[in-house]
Amino acid sequence: MRHEQLLDLDRQHVWHPYGPMPGRTEPLLVESAAGVRLRLAEEFCGQRELVDGMSSWWSAVHGYNHPVLNEAAHRQLERMSHVMFGGLTHEPAVRLAKRLVDVTPPGLEHVFLADSGSVSVEVAVKMCLQYWRSQGLGGKQRLLTWRGGYHGDTWQPMSVCDPEGGMHELWSGVLPRQVFASAPPSGFDAPPDEQYLRHLRETVARHADELAAVIVEPVVQGAGGMRFHSPAYVRVLREACDEHGVLLVLDEIATGFGRTGALFASEHAGIVPDVMCLGKALTGGYLTMAATLCTPRVAEGISRGDVPVLAHGPTFMGNPLAAAVADASVGLLLDGDWAGEVRRIEGGLRAGLAEAAGLPGVRETRVLGAIGVVQLDHEVDMERATRAAAGAGVWLRPFRDMVYAMPPYVTGDEDVARICTAMCAAAAEG
Ligand SMILES: *Cc1c(COP(=O)(O)O)cnc(C)c1O
Repeated sequence: MRHEQLLDLDRQHVWHPYGPMPGRTEPLLVESAAGVRLRLAEEFCGQRELVDGMSSWWSAVHGYNHPVLNEAAHRQLERMSHVMFGGLTHEPAVRLAKRLVDVTPPGLEHVFLADSGSVSVEVAVKMCLQYWRSQGLGGKQRLLTWRGGYHGDTWQPMSVCDPEGGMHELWSGVLPRQVFASAPPSGFDAPPDEQYLRHLRETVARHADELAAVIVEPVVQGAGGMRFHSPAYVRVLREACDEHGVLLVLDEIATGFGRTGALFASEHAGIVPDVMCLGKALTGGYLTMAATLCTPRVAEGISRGDVPVLAHGPTFMGNPLAAAVADASVGLLLDGDWAGEVRRIEGGLRAGLAEAAGLPGVRETRVLGAIGVVQLDHEVDMERATRAAAGAGVWLRPFRDMVYAMPPYVTGDEDVARICTAMCAAAAEG
């Protein structure tokens, strides 16, 4: 099909994320991708290729068209791309589950494979509610989170997204009403705020009787505003949950697999949740798959109840193709020097974003692991900012009042510098 025809049909028929129908802005047509570069079908702002500063929403940590992941996909495709998971099992799912148990913090031993991050959060919530129900404490049905979070776009996850800043305020009267603590004070290295620690402890204590679980993103709040906080706040939630009989769910869908400089962000806090959600980088950005892990206590608690099963089973649960690629992706990560690469990118982002701090309209810049953020003091003009970045040869997708990047871990130093230049240009123009 001709490019104009494709774009025309796209506009007429294809819904894009968070977009209207028919679409009002023209998406870029991508022809292929390799390494850290997206190849466009046509020149845009003078460029045919763009360095991907987004890792396709945190997922493509090894870059595109990676020989090891391609090989894993091809090999599995020749055996079977899918079989149902009810009553059947297969090597890719078993291998992946074992690997996830091995690499995640100790104590998380059981793995539910889900088909997207949002679904893995739904499963986590269902696990927690059902756990208490099985203990005869069916009144513990609510969730506690802090403001500024993001947990996905299906119903339960939406109910714990930031009720104001996010896109879900529209549904505030319809969603389950959860308990919100204030947003964690900013700064990964900032000394923990005693008053806030007390606020968290008190909020858990006050609502303990009705709480099934506390659910938060540890250390980095991603799509809710790209903010970093002290691991001490995650630690105090663990303590408060233990003290008051509440389960702790950590959503590591964005932070998992090295992005923050630790393999899992909960390691910064030195704690283990009762339930953990993984997704995004799990398959190296190849296919959709997520996982909900839990401890034996949660699993046994559910399985001893009067409904002794977890009533959840997506059609494509455990998809062999996705599981084979996920296993290869996690293997590739662990065999390589992911920590060194993330540290190198962190250094590159810090150096390259220093200049942005002085630009008019910029409130601050912040970097943690392979995440860089330029915080503006105004709503970004998305189109102008996108064009400015593309003109500098980089794909960025700014949102709200920030321009940010989380590059693939294989991004070379020159390309990291180019991403920073593009972020500065986007911040200046947007
Ligand atoms: C992206 C994200 C989700 C949702 O995952 P999907 O695969 O988009 O459904 C949930 N939680 C966090 C922290 C995320 O970053």
